Amino acid sequence: MWDAIVVGGGLAGWTAGIRAAQRGKKVLIVAEGVGTLYYFSGIFDYGDVEGLRHLPKHPYSLFDAEMIESGKQFVQELCPDYLGKDKPLSALTVLGTARQGDLMPRSMILPDRQERGIFVLLVPEGLKDFFPEIAASNMAQEFPGWEVKIKKVQVEIFREWEQLGRSASGVDYAAIWRTEEGQNLLAREIEAIKSELSATGNKSEKIVVVLPSLVREYFDASRTKSHGREFSLPIMEMSSFIPSPHGRYLAEYLKHRFTDLGGELMLGARAASLQGESVPDNPTKSCGEIIVHSMGKAVNLKAKKFILATGGLLGGGIKVGIERQSIREGVFNLPLYVPQEWSASQFLAPQPFAQLGVETEKGLRPLDPATGQVVWDNVHVVGRMLAHWDPWTQRCGGGVAVTSGYAAAEMI
Ligand SMILES: Cc1cc2nc3c(=O)[nH]c(=O)nc-3n(C[C@H](O)[C@H](O)[C@H](O)COP(=O)(O)OP(=O)(O)OC[C@H]3O[C@@H](n4cnc5c(N)ncnc54)[C@H](O)[C@@H]3O)c2cc1C
Repeated sequence: MWDAIVVGGGLAGWTAGIRAAQRGKKVLIVAEGVGTLYYFSGIFDYGDVEGLRHLPKHPYSLFDAEMIESGKQFVQELCPDYLGKDKPLSALTVLGTARQGDLMPRSMILPDRQERGIFVLLVPEGLKDFFPEIAASNMAQEFPGWEVKIKKVQVEIFREWEQLGRSASGVDYAAIWRTEEGQNLLAREIEAIKSELSATGNKSEKIVVVLPSLVREYFDASRTKSHGREFSLPIMEMSSFIPSPHGRYLAEYLKHRFTDLGGELMLGARAASLQGESVPDNPTKSCGEIIVHSMGKAVNLKAKKFILATGGLLGGGIKVGIERQSIREGVFNLPLYVPQEWSASQFLAPQPFAQLGVETEKGLRPLDPATGQVVWDNVHVVGRMLAHWDPWTQRCGGGVAVTSGYAAAEMI
């Protein structure tokens, strides 16, 4: 029997699984899909932690400051290139605007605005959904003391794709930059930029090359030499857009870290509902097993504890029927907090449906909102499955996912 089965392979599930495995526990992660990590910008957002902790029922109110800090340290130990300070750091989005965040790779952190210098925006030819002129113009506005130049870079294979009518995404380019060949190409391009700028008389100004679609070596379990290569000018990453190469490599990296610790995986497997009762008829309130559908078979899996990390509405953990006639949690059939109003008319306003989820007590065990009673003693709910928060307007998505996953693992 496993010490814990984690259902869900998003940020919250991987955090819980890895932390529990680090603590010597026997853990299985069951995940149907990839979760919202594939939208991840590369930056962990924590938001205004102190302010949010004082909002009634916000997930941060379930944790003390020490637990939130321990979760952050866990990320930094796992990804040593990720830096975080007391104040948020800034990175460039693919639109060329500055974006704040709480933990980001050092290769993404923007230089000081007070300095003077030259940004050379290296533009991969045919990169889908990237608009270099808009990015360059926004960068010039953000950094008035900096000159912004554009230089294009062509990868032969993508020229062929273009002729076939196929475009190259950030994920496609990121894969190329991680090869020896891609690194050699970048080294040549950067050397050419350096020579051109010194030929035009630039000697003293700082030059920074900016490349969308680049993910450097920090998510590479083997840390191969070519990825970690130094170039003749500093090269800066932009935050990712969809489909996110940062999310892709982070997901792979977390998977390796988990299995290296002895964690077991069932990918492409769906945990299904228990017998469909909203409150189990079970005096001990202890769940013994879940049903998992994998490769056309259903198996019952037993564990001492379960961590529900199925990602709410977007992750597939909460199903909403037509006209919202049914709204249900898909594994334990847990009672949910459902806001009375579903949406607000203004597009960018906080949307009430974002607050949908499972209410818990401080130990992350699910509560029935009607009675305030714990539903299952040995189930912990984490990440986007938790009620009463909004990752978009509160910008705390990564922070809540990591903190709750980490805290649940400490209770295994
Ligand atoms: C578009 C977008 C961009 C974002 N960008 C950022 C960002 O840049 N920085 C940041 O900090 N936060 C970001 N967030 C927020 C953050 O990613 C989420 O809050 C967080 O990832 C939620 O993680 P999770 O693990 O709870 O859920 P998810 O990532 O959704 O993972 C859910 C997992 O559960 C699995 N699952 C669901 N049901 C079942 C089942 N029955 N059986 C088995 N598996 C199941 C899914 O397949 C998936 O593996 C973003 C969110 C969105 C939507």
